[in-house]
Amino acid sequence: MKYVLVSGGVISGVGKGIIASSTGLLLKTMGLTVTSIKIDPYMNIDAGTMAPTEHGEVYVTDDGGEMDLDIGHYERYLLTTLTRDHNLTTGKIYQQVIERERRGDYLGKTVQVVPHLTNAIQDWIERVAQIPVDESGNKPDVCVIELGGTVGDIESAPFIHAMSQFPRRVGKGNFMQIHVSYVPVIPPGPHGEQKTKPTQRAVGDVRSAGLRPDLIACRCERPLEDAVIQKIANMCQVEPKQVLTVHNVSSTYHVPLLLRQQKLLDSINGLLELNAPGAPTPSKALIDHGAKMWSEWVSRTRAQDGGNLDTVTICLVGKYTNLEDAYISVGKSLEHAAMYCKKKLNLVWVDSSNLEDTALEEQPAKFHEAWHAVCTADGILVPGGFGIRGTEGMIKATTWARTKNVPFLGVCLGMQLAVIEFARNVCNIPGAGSEELHPGCENPVIVYMPEVDRTKLGGTMRLGKRECVFQPGTAGWSKFRAMYGDDVGSIQERHRHRYEVNPEKMTTIESSGDFVFVGKDEKGERVEVIEIRNHPFFVGVQFHPEYLSRVLAPSKSYLGFFAAAAGVLDEVTASSSGKPLVVKDAEV
Ligand code: GLN
Repeated sequence: MKYVLVSGGVISGVGKGIIASSTGLLLKTMGLTVTSIKIDPYMNIDAGTMAPTEHGEVYVTDDGGEMDLDIGHYERYLLTTLTRDHNLTTGKIYQQVIERERRGDYLGKTVQVVPHLTNAIQDWIERVAQIPVDESGNKPDVCVIELGGTVGDIESAPFIHAMSQFPRRVGKGNFMQIHVSYVPVIPPGPHGEQKTKPTQRAVGDVRSAGLRPDLIACRCERPLEDAVIQKIANMCQVEPKQVLTVHNVSSTYHVPLLLRQQKLLDSINGLLELNAPGAPTPSKALIDHGAKMWSEWVSRTRAQDGGNLDTVTICLVGKYTNLEDAYISVGKSLEHAAMYCKKKLNLVWVDSSNLEDTALEEQPAKFHEAWHAVCTADGILVPGGFGIRGTEGMIKATTWARTKNVPFLGVCLGMQLAVIEFARNVCNIPGAGSEELHPGCENPVIVYMPEVDRTKLGGTMRLGKRECVFQPGTAGWSKFRAMYGDDVGSIQERHRHRYEVNPEKMTTIESSGDFVFVGKDEKGERVEVIEIRNHPFFVGVQFHPEYLSRVLAPSKSYLGFFAAAAGVLDEVTASSSGKPLVVKDAEV
């Protein structure tokens, strides 16, 4: 097993996750099987209890792990399926060591950060790196480990110490490190100077912590000037070819191209001794598959740079709109769909509170601006969320989409609100609401799921991959179902919710004939998909299809919605229905 550690210095949030996943993608295009582990030095056991406004989206894996959003980059780039153990946090590793101590595993010993915790970290990484992550079932060849935060943070110290010992544990030629740094331009703008001091300091810090980066990847606005590369090389005692420049590009999908141009693969080949005896030897099928993935990646990425693409405007009506990362997988899924359809995505964010009547009184300019965005959109998307704030605005946007025949996708909370909207405005059910948002309402059409533990918050939702069965009578007319192919009886999607459509109200809601529960769980009791007939595309899903969307295999829920907004649903349905969407591992 070979390991690539990606660490960060200077500041966090400059795209370490993208650099790490792009590195993984390049390795995969060589035919290697690549896995990844994200280390988060925070004390939380997982990201499930963290506010999306602060930490960004909570990403969910098949096994119901509530993960850091970077895990999403790996799955999207590498077409892999990771598990909850692929995200290692301080909380998880301390919990493991403390449980062992209580069991008596260390009996007689003083349990210490070094060596007990640091050994547990290394054992964890070695164990998890072996888990097969794709349909081939093969053990991975390479594991990309991303260390969250920046080197020098107090909380990352045990992980850094563990990583400084790791190269000796795994042996020569099996470990390399990329340190991601930031090169600011002072003063900012076209005439500023690229400053190397933060990078020099960051490399000094990482070395004094016992790590020796093999490559220094510099994030910067513009390509690094030759003199700047030379200076970093001199001051950090490396060769210029060990300094990579990762400047701003038109989309993050260009980063693998940028790294490849700078011969990253040649460097990795040397550092990980990939041509030496005993190195992994991918089969011809895997090499061909890698090459096919790469050409598809390049062509979809470059096609987006063409000047003559039609623009499709999608309005995302949400609550956490001040932090883009809060809906990162939603945005990525729309990008994947746009790349597939060869259209340009114009994603407009609207804070749903601004659509409410109170906003008209308090902030009329924002109210009108928000409604202008909704009224001019080609498609309206209401994503997942928690709590009442902004939900009346989301319901109003849903009414607009339903009555004006604008393509609509409601995800999780968005689907629940679409049910409330229909119950209130079409079925005329008085006081129709949700037990979460309107406790004590006259007619709860969304209720707490019976099996959910109400006393604890961490990991207690209905989480992970579950089946959604298409209901009888939906083939032939359901636009959502047609995306998968009418002969497909069920699909698997990832979930994260506590509430569901009230089973006692289903018959009343469906009785109008237009509003149909197209998908239900395997017992036929729980609503998974709703769709309105005779509408260009009005779909709500209880699951989160964004967690299964991949750059080269877009989610069909998002693809159907986007294609409808772009006016190409029939063509896209014909081209995608019943087929995997290009280069899936299953084809190998
Ligand atoms: N708050 C809703 C629930 O718990 C929706 C959750 C979500 O959108 N992820 O069911």
